[in-house]
Amino acid sequence: MPLMLNRLQLAASIFRCNLIPKVIPVKFLHRTFVQHEEEELPNATIKVPPSKDRSQIISVKTSMKYLESNAYKQTYGNDPVWIQYRRNFKGHYLPRKTRKLCIRAGVVSTGSPCPICRDEYLILDYRNINLLKQFISVYDGRILHYNVTGLCQKSFKDLCVAIMKAKDYGILTYDVPFRYYNYLEWKN
Ligand SMILES: [Zn+2]
Repeated sequence: MPLMLNRLQLAASIFRCNLIPKVIPVKFLHRTFVQHEEEELPNATIKVPPSKDRSQIISVKTSMKYLESNAYKQTYGNDPVWIQYRRNFKGHYLPRKTRKLCIRAGVVSTGSPCPICRDEYLILDYRNINLLKQFISVYDGRILHYNVTGLCQKSFKDLCVAIMKAKDYGILTYDVPFRYYNYLEWKN
């Protein structure tokens, strides 16, 4: 009997909860209203502006064609891709590192994405040499630092990998320092 009574009490308490009209605080009213609207629509998706949508996968070949096209020359001219870019930061002092990512889940998540992430047709790959050359110093052949070019950490890592791979494949040529040895010392 006591078990049965307990069950009845539980059922009664649940029923009472349903009877009491739910009062939504004013500050949550707007949010709940929006959620209802989204639930009612069957194919409700968050609209991403086309300028920030990066879900499309672009092949390396199209990127290489783009670098030789007139559209590219009109936007960048003969300058490297990063030369017009200015970093956007909070406060007076420049942070030591650039941001980790610009693109999260296929959407540009910042207001000022880095020179690689802002243009969807620039793809870092070991075959895309015209792009890689823009990030290599003319004077010493080293990769330009992200404080100079303003690349995000992910793009910079991808760039380093692409350049290393291009050098390994022999597509990108580079100078090896020549060393003079005195072989006479070695023979003795
Ligand atoms: Zn980036």
